[in-house]
Amino acid sequence: MKLLAQNHSFATARCSDFIDLTDDVLELVEQSGIANGVAVVFSPHTTGAIIINERERGFIADFHEMVGRLVPDEDEYRHDDTESRVENRDDTDHTVPNGHAHCRHALLGSASQSVPVIDGRLQLGRWQRVFFVECDRARDRRVLIQVLGE
Ligand code: ZN
Repeated sequence: MKLLAQNHSFATARCSDFIDLTDDVLELVEQSGIANGVAVVFSPHTTGAIIINERERGFIADFHEMVGRLVPDEDEYRHDDTESRVENRDDTDHTVPNGHAHCRHALLGSASQSVPVIDGRLQLGRWQRVFFVECDRARDRRVLIQVLGE
């Protein structure tokens, strides 16, 4: 089995920013020389998800409004209560309240996505793109893209 992995760093601009990683995944599949296997795209963040969907402005605006309705950022979240909170208090990220961002990420439920590679081709559908979705504010982010197979 062959394996090729690469980290990609970038900065997001706002909540619900969609960073299109599809070309990076396609490049790594080509570089790997792997004909049959799988490409995995993984976010090591608890407030930034990986989703597969369409690159279309209307959808992205609809998505932003939907998550805002389901998980409003102005609600009260226990995660943001630094007085009663006992875990992970040394995380500097928590100087800015982001309970809503954790809930949005958990609702999406997708720290990673995997896409089959067959005959050297990534098997995305015609309109499918792989995105990092920012559930928090503008931040520096990293994703790991891994291709494995033979
Ligand atoms: Zn947090």
